[in-house]
Amino acid sequence: MDDVNVDVLIIGAGPSGSVAAAHLFNQGVSIKVVEKSKFPRFVIGESLIPRCMDHFDEVGLLDAIKKADFEVKTGARFIKGDAVCEFDFKEKFTEGWNWTWQLPRADFDKLLTDELARKGVDIAFENEVIDVFINPDGSSKTTVKDKAGNVYTIYAKYIMDSSGYGRVLPRLLDLDTPSSLPKHASIFTHVKDSNRPEGKEGTLITFDIINTQSWFWVIPFSNGVTSIGFVGPIDFIESFKGSASERVSEMLKLSKHYAERFIDVPFIFEPKEIKNYSKAVKQLYGKGYVLTGNSAEFLDPVFSSGVTFATESALLASKLIVKELNNEPVDWETEYSDYIKEGVSVFSTYVKEWYTGNLQTLFFHQPENKANKEQICAVLAGYVWDKSNPFVSKHDRLVKSLAYLIDMESSSNSKSE
Ligand SMILES: Cc1cc2nc3c(=O)[nH]c(=O)nc-3n(C[C@H](O)[C@H](O)[C@H](O)COP(=O)(O)OP(=O)(O)OC[C@H]3O[C@@H](n4cnc5c(N)ncnc54)[C@H](O)[C@@H]3O)c2cc1C
Repeated sequence: MDDVNVDVLIIGAGPSGSVAAAHLFNQGVSIKVVEKSKFPRFVIGESLIPRCMDHFDEVGLLDAIKKADFEVKTGARFIKGDAVCEFDFKEKFTEGWNWTWQLPRADFDKLLTDELARKGVDIAFENEVIDVFINPDGSSKTTVKDKAGNVYTIYAKYIMDSSGYGRVLPRLLDLDTPSSLPKHASIFTHVKDSNRPEGKEGTLITFDIINTQSWFWVIPFSNGVTSIGFVGPIDFIESFKGSASERVSEMLKLSKHYAERFIDVPFIFEPKEIKNYSKAVKQLYGKGYVLTGNSAEFLDPVFSSGVTFATESALLASKLIVKELNNEPVDWETEYSDYIKEGVSVFSTYVKEWYTGNLQTLFFHQPENKANKEQICAVLAGYVWDKSNPFVSKHDRLVKSLAYLIDMESSSNSKSE
């Protein structure tokens, strides 16, 4: 394989790499995408949130996705025992998309890359980045191994690291830093949903709370398959013994709402387990490189923010690279790092307050406060940069304070009874 010279090397062809590739290609930038796997390949992250529709639309990928007939997602339901809290994206504070999709990522990611290849984007599948050297001026020399074991070099002005869980640059440049979130694990599989009820109940995305720290997801796809998974502290997930299938079968008994639907349904593959999935980095960019998507940061699956964060960061980073290639000044600290960290910090609060139980207190409190619910709904839809939403601008205080007031009110009510 001959050596390659490009303006931008994109590592990884997940949603982050695909959105970046689409934008840069549309702007006439010379790019190469290097992807370790052969697509379709399994990856978790199947429930999207509306904000990512803006990104797919802007880079011209939305029409291709619409043709695929994925299951439309219009909201999400949270269940705790008999209590139910359902969010409808139509009823959200911030203007924006009211729907998105829930989909098998193997098909989705393949569709995105097929569409990019059709447009003429150069994607090398089964090619793995094994080493990177970045010069002081930002130009780089990347070593890639193809599937036959041949090694070649890519010279690039910029590297966009969209390698997800591969975390290529965080590993090679020693950028990892511990996440501030609790250490959790998840175990998940797909089932042929043969007991799926008719109508909305059959297709609704649901998060069923087992206890404050642990929960169960149900994500039905349009092809009759449903993704199921458990999330919780590592100790909790490891307290179930036996094979992965036996452990998930045991866990299913804990879901009052879903046990009957899934208990006898065979798993399509042996459940997979991921431990300690929350990741953070010391810096999101450096001279000649930028980290996007999961390679930059991953919080927690509870609000399905992963893909949207991957596409938000990829699109923004691509725009800034185009500016720089056009010799316009770019302040990566404020224009990229600060912006991305703002969104991460909002979601981080919601994840933390989910596991303290405060957010669950707000979700299930009756009677519902319509204004609060619409504002929280906008956050769950991914519109976490809308500072006119008090649940964004005061995220670090509001959830905690409201939960405190609700707790005070219920303890004074129970005393007066
Ligand atoms: C348990 C769990 C549940 C989740 N549920 C959701 C959800 O419901 N909704 C949601 O939005 N997110 C969810 N996520 C997060 C989601 O999986 C990720 O945020 C999302 O896939 C990130 O996209 P990405 O493009 O950054 O990376 P990826 O989708 O991981 O893509 C990265 C690509 O880079 C390639 N790569 C890796 N190393 C190399 C290398 N050395 N050379 C070349 N290529 C390489 C990989 O093969 C891969 O194809 C979940 C995460 C977990 C842990």
